Amino acid sequence: MADGLSIRARVPTRRKVPPQTRYGLYRDDLRQDFANACGYCGDDDLRVDRITFHIDHFAPRKIFPALECDYGNLVYACRFCNMAKSDHWVGSDASVPNDGTRGFVDPCCDQYEAHFRRDPSGRIVPVGELGAYIAKRLRFNLLRHELLWQARRARVLRDEVKVLIETMKARAVKGDAYIELLERYVSLTEAIDDYELRAAA
Ligand SMILES: [Zn+2]
Repeated sequence: MADGLSIRARVPTRRKVPPQTRYGLYRDDLRQDFANACGYCGDDDLRVDRITFHIDHFAPRKIFPALECDYGNLVYACRFCNMAKSDHWVGSDASVPNDGTRGFVDPCCDQYEAHFRRDPSGRIVPVGELGAYIAKRLRFNLLRHELLWQARRARVLRDEVKVLIETMKARAVKGDAYIELLERYVSLTEAIDDYELRAAA
């Protein structure tokens, strides 16, 4: 289960979707099933990153070409995780993704969450040997993973500030300097968000 210090905001689930002849045609379905976020690191694609999100073949298509268009083998992934993962695979069986200490875990598998935590600053911290292997291979120590997590938290906090403003308004007299300051902060940061969202659309 995902919680406040989970690596991702939500555990992705693959629906049953109609088969396609090219894996690129699954892009919209995948994006929906992965809640607009990288299956591996949880970074979202809602801003400028959308154009550079990739479709990862969990078991690499170079080694397992029969799985190229198998929806159950596809992962919506940021380019940082996808490129770091590349064609790496432990062993020679597509249905055995790890040996307990090396290899990968399907991001749609519930156990994925158990291999990682976030520290209070948002840094991804592996739990156990297999988690450490995946974190190193996918370069989870990149600063962007920490900063994008902080940005998501900041947006949640801003929503809390908006509720606070309404509560303060109900109690305070008009022209309260604190309320005006908070309102300026909310509208400025929302303007930045709007710009980034429009740039990515
Ligand atoms: Zn990623």
